[in-house]
Amino acid sequence: MTTFADLGLSPELLQAVEAAGYTEPTPIQAEAIPAVLMMKDVLGIAQTGTGKTASFVLPMIDVLASGRRRALMPRSLILEPTRELAAQVAENFEKYGKNHDLTMALLIGGVQMGDQVKALNEGVDVLIATPGRLMDLFERGKIILNACELVVIDEADRMLDMGFIPDIEFICDKLPDQRQTLLFSATMPPPIEKLAKKFLDNPKRIEVTRAASTNENITAFKIPVKSREKRETLRWLLRNDLVETAIIFCNRKTTVRELNKSLQRHGFASGEIHGDIDQNQRNAELQRFKNGEINILVASDVAARGLDIKGVSHVFNFDTPWHPDDYVHRIGRTGRAGAKGRAFTFVAPEDAEAIENVEKLTGSEVPVFGKKDVRVELPKAKPEAKQEEPADESGVEEQEEKPRRSRSRRDDKRQEEGRNDSKPRREKREDRPPRDDKPRGNRRRDADDEPVPAGEWNGPKPGFLGVGFK
Ligand code: ADP
Ligand code: MG
Repeated sequence: MTTFADLGLSPELLQAVEAAGYTEPTPIQAEAIPAVLMMKDVLGIAQTGTGKTASFVLPMIDVLASGRRRALMPRSLILEPTRELAAQVAENFEKYGKNHDLTMALLIGGVQMGDQVKALNEGVDVLIATPGRLMDLFERGKIILNACELVVIDEADRMLDMGFIPDIEFICDKLPDQRQTLLFSATMPPPIEKLAKKFLDNPKRIEVTRAASTNENITAFKIPVKSREKRETLRWLLRNDLVETAIIFCNRKTTVRELNKSLQRHGFASGEIHGDIDQNQRNAELQRFKNGEINILVASDVAARGLDIKGVSHVFNFDTPWHPDDYVHRIGRTGRAGAKGRAFTFVAPEDAEAIENVEKLTGSEVPVFGKKDVRVELPKAKPEAKQEEPADESGVEEQEEKPRRSRSRRDDKRQEEGRNDSKPRREKREDRPPRDDKPRGNRRRDADDEPVPAGEWNGPKPGFLGVGFK
């Protein structure tokens, strides 16, 4: 077993690592740290949550320990796609660098530029920046990159998604040729590969795992649902899958906002983060989540990418992400640092293409969630058969108790979809296989009506348990 002491780090640093509570390096750390210390370029590919940050922060601290700072000329540069990630890396420097005399500046948007410029004027060892703000200062002549001999491009695939690749190319062109470059990413789509070829010099390629599907700490499922059943299905899972903390991803900001409101109306302790919310509020929301004031965070991809939130038990993809790489990032919010996690992806008809792309990327099919997979505690007392919930504004007729077969909207929809499954199916849940291969119309409601023999689960039953995929 490799230990941190085997990796060639200084005693001061080992002491800080120990104080942080790490006992064993993660695979990417074990391989990257010695390479960085040997001044090699590194191309590090490992899924989210595998400790990539420390794999560059730790050796950087030792590398930067010798040498001196100069005004306006940062000695090293770390590029991060979002302010949150930049702030997290800064926290890492503070934690591990406590025994070293290193100065750091954080150049991120949404923060007064004055203090940042002042820090630069005094000289910094480590500059942590988002590309936008760095370009801004560079173009105003407030920063000189000639002395920047150690550069990290972190979360490169996210940079790509956010359209930062041209900025990064611009920045890299201003850097000295004689430098060490480290690039980290969870996935390696072709444009990142190209970037790496152009800006890295004979890098050591470290590839720990290819895709999130291979993270054995994450149990992932997909759930075929109709769009308008997503909220109800989500609530059922939130109540019945032993959810402690959850992040729910939506593809659109408006969905984030509306879903959060709906969850709050249903009594869930939820909050939201997305790009339209200002930085202070985003941080405050995140803090509430970390403190446990809320246990559900509804998020967009941009706002949540790479955030290190410990102990998230569940990730829900309320929509299947449009970019398959986002799937890897999203579900990587759970199952971090050895903990177990569960990830559910809702697949409505409009998500069909997106899930295909996800499965292509991860190289394996995401299993369909079936009743055998429910993580429920069977109720001890005789449970209530009905759920008391106000109806959604989305028009799902959850409240309706009877008659189950006069749901004109559903029937219309079935007609549209060419189904004529109008006969009620009254099998007991137990008799049905967890996965059906044919669409089954609205049997869910029928199943809900069925009296259940004593001793059997008689709580609310989610529709997706009876609805087949495709
Ligand atoms: P990544 O950048 O790969 O997504 P992070 O660097 O954000 O991952 O690390 C994920 C989590 O793992 C963080 O909470 C971090 O503190 C923790 N971690 C990192 N390295 C170790 C380690 N060697 N032992 C235990 N936990 C670690
Ligand atoms: Mg990271």
